[in-house]
Amino acid sequence: MKVAIVANKTEKTQGVQKEVVRLIEQSKSLTIDEQTPDIVISIGGDGTLLKAFHQYKHRLKEVEFVGVHTGHLGFYADWRDFELEEMVTSLETRSAEKVSYPLLEVEIEYSDGKESERLIALNESTVRRVSSTLVSDVYISGELFERFRGDGLSVSTPTGSTAYNKSVGGAVIHPSINAVQLAEIASLNNRVFRTLGSPMVLSVHEDLTIEMIESPDAVVTVDHLTIDRTAIARVHCRVASERIAFVSGKHTHFWTRVKESFIGVD
Ligand code: NAP
Ligand code: MN
Repeated sequence: MKVAIVANKTEKTQGVQKEVVRLIEQSKSLTIDEQTPDIVISIGGDGTLLKAFHQYKHRLKEVEFVGVHTGHLGFYADWRDFELEEMVTSLETRSAEKVSYPLLEVEIEYSDGKESERLIALNESTVRRVSSTLVSDVYISGELFERFRGDGLSVSTPTGSTAYNKSVGGAVIHPSINAVQLAEIASLNNRVFRTLGSPMVLSVHEDLTIEMIESPDAVVTVDHLTIDRTAIARVHCRVASERIAFVSGKHTHFWTRVKESFIGVD
């Protein structure tokens, strides 16, 4: 089994990384391979796992992720730094059973003729405007739903529902639900301008189009990445056909993870 490691730069993480490398080198069935891994170990926080995901997103069919948590939140990280031997054993004796979560497909159409781009998000994609109000038409499965005015819109995955989505008032969604969530960022709502005003959960059979109306400087983000500032015409979002797989060795119950991250450990 080939293993790649993605780690952040903190001192604590560097120590953990050294220990993980040592355990892998000792193992008979595991080798380090950064190019074509079967397993990607992320050591750090959720930001590290997001980076690991984007580094290996072209190999989603082949790769399973494992998260080791070295501080911060670690929403995607199941293993702690004192469980490294157990974690490596779980990779050696890995069952065929995978835990996988939905992802978000984002297709960006540009208005200057630049070829459209297909991207994939683990947490969310947002369309935002800072200098003035974002105006955009929201279509659900091709039908006009509303004209949005405000700071922006966030479209998130179930595992991303605890990230930016939660900060803008979206619901936390169990990742066994194959769906994406649309949440508003500071919408203008008054007698003249009207949007639904609450988050919406779209099914796997639907797609969402956000069409910019006189908002040439709108910015699109995908997880921690900001997309090139070429004028954007439309953004199409739907549940992706790909999924992200995690090694199922130790998989913390989703609501336990939510409780431990946001409410506290008993
Ligand atoms: P960051 O600014 O370090 O991340 C912001 C916080 O979000 C960190 O505490 C991070 O955990 C946590 N986080 C990331 N994904 C999460 C998830 N799925 N569930 C719960 N918490 C999560 O930036 P980053 O580490 O590069 O991560 C980028 C992500 O941060 C974006 O995708 C966005 O969702 C989120 N973000 C949120 C806000 C906000 O809530 N206002 C603002 C900016 C970005 P770690 O400390 O473990 O990395
Ligand atoms: Mn971070």
